[in-house]
Amino acid sequence: MRISQLFYQTMKEVPREAQVPSHQLMFRAGMIQQLASGIYNYTPLAKKSLSKIETIIREELEKKGCQEVLLPVVQPSELWEKSGRWGYYGPELLRLKDRKDNDFCLGPTHEEVITDMVSKVLKSYKQLPWNLFQIQTKFRDEVRPRFGLMRGREFTMKDGYSFDVDEEASKVMYWKMYDAYTAIFKRCGLSFRAVDAATGNIGGDMSHEFQVLAQSGEDLILSCDSCDYAANAEKAVTPRSAQELTEEGMEQTEDVHTPACRTIEEIADYLKRPASDFIKSIIYVVDEEPVLVLIRGDLDINESKLQTALSANGVFLADDALVQEVSGAGTGFAGPVGLKKQVKIVADYSVTEGKNMVSGANKDDYHKVNVNYGRDYKADVLGDLSFAQPGDKCPKCEGKLEDHRGIEVGQVFYLGTKYSEPMECNYLDRDGKSHPAVMGCYGIGVGRTMAAAIEQNHDEDGMIWPAAIAPYEAVILPLQMNKDEVVAAGEDLYTSLRDAGMDVALDDREERAGFKFKDADLLGYPLQIVIGARSLEAGEVELKIRKTGEKKNIPLAEVKSFVENFLKEEKSAD
Ligand code: ATP
Ligand code: MG
Repeated sequence: MRISQLFYQTMKEVPREAQVPSHQLMFRAGMIQQLASGIYNYTPLAKKSLSKIETIIREELEKKGCQEVLLPVVQPSELWEKSGRWGYYGPELLRLKDRKDNDFCLGPTHEEVITDMVSKVLKSYKQLPWNLFQIQTKFRDEVRPRFGLMRGREFTMKDGYSFDVDEEASKVMYWKMYDAYTAIFKRCGLSFRAVDAATGNIGGDMSHEFQVLAQSGEDLILSCDSCDYAANAEKAVTPRSAQELTEEGMEQTEDVHTPACRTIEEIADYLKRPASDFIKSIIYVVDEEPVLVLIRGDLDINESKLQTALSANGVFLADDALVQEVSGAGTGFAGPVGLKKQVKIVADYSVTEGKNMVSGANKDDYHKVNVNYGRDYKADVLGDLSFAQPGDKCPKCEGKLEDHRGIEVGQVFYLGTKYSEPMECNYLDRDGKSHPAVMGCYGIGVGRTMAAAIEQNHDEDGMIWPAAIAPYEAVILPLQMNKDEVVAAGEDLYTSLRDAGMDVALDDREERAGFKFKDADLLGYPLQIVIGARSLEAGEVELKIRKTGEKKNIPLAEVKSFVENFLKEEKSAD
């Protein structure tokens, strides 16, 4: 590409909402333009990098026998009603109507459509396994679109779905995809970690996220300092367990007047006791039923673990009216003893760790002291509902958990029959008996992967692309455009590198050397090939490796093989 013809403009100022380096740099380099909140135009530089990531994905998936399909963005509500998700997916699902008043949505993910498609073809166990993927536009009406391509509303995702005869075969497929993802992110030149993950809106009971380690990452990851355990903080197991309390030292419960003390801070301050003496009691709506959830006052409820513990489709905080109906008091005074309406009680292990705790008294402006687990109340479900913390003991060994920030670029899920059963995606076994196919699903955010590569590889001058996904692998910078021999050497080199299959750019603009250097650093070409009049007289050019800043003079005749070797080495996944 001749830069004089490239459709792009560099920008000096970045908008205030661009808070992370990838957003700022992609904006400054003119790679993306915001069309609406979380919705972007991609200019040629961005599109080139996206296409390279897509090619790597395709190649690695095809190696594993996956087949590419293309499914619609607009999906009819009937399919979502069949899977049950139309009711509980929530406001992230952008719903719309056609002129005949039929309900549709813009696909945030494609389990429904693909399961429906496969159900129309699947008959016998002999046809399986199938693993189908697409690279396509998704829409999620995110509450807070931000960080540019990292959390958009419209974005490109590779999503894949596997269909197997049983759990065992499906889990073999799961690990095959895990390996494919490892190969993909390695080839993209990223430093990443696969971590245990929660399954959220997608469902299923086993999942890993592929997290690119970067300071600006939205996810908190905990990993062991001495074994290979690593998990998203939503999922990481805490060292707590259920404690058996003896009655010794338990005192009589008593209601105390605590006017207007609704939060743990207010009541702790008022009674002059630490937050860990309290039982935080929160009423949730879980699949339409009210549930009282308890945790020690100094801890927070991990809603992802709560959802998993109850095998629920969704968990939401109850409104004031429901709190009143269940507890008989206003928000802030609920507790496990003496509820007005008996509801399921779910408690974190932490409430069994202390005696004589304080909870709401289910009475306005009153709390109950000396509340003890076992003697005064019991939970229907007792489990690990809190967040693990850095410094906690590793659940697998004697090591300690350390924290890192990560950007989730991909996730794999073992789904079981969550979709195939309701959507009747069945096959007949050897004996003619019908079974639902066992599924897995596998996603990669293509734009987020590109953004994550920049988060991990940049400096104050600009981007530093991994060679495999750089928009251009190298740039040729003829410095004196008024000197024929410099221009001619640039042109010759450009042709020879392109003919050898390299993806190079030629900065043929009539601009000062300093201007060209600045742009080249900003755009982050892995290699800069500088043609200056003086070194050219000696038959040499100067090469600058963007990543290390290293510069070296090389005879013109050796440039091609140097660049070829450099790129080969940079792109090798090891
Ligand atoms: P997150 O937790 O970050 O919201 P998710 O877990 O909901 O993401 P998945 O359903 O696992 O996302 O989607 C697969 C992949 O799609 C993610 O790993 C991520 O790379 C990408 N992705 C998801 N949401 C967005 C988004 N809003 N913008 C860009 N990429 C996204
Ligand atoms: Mg995910």
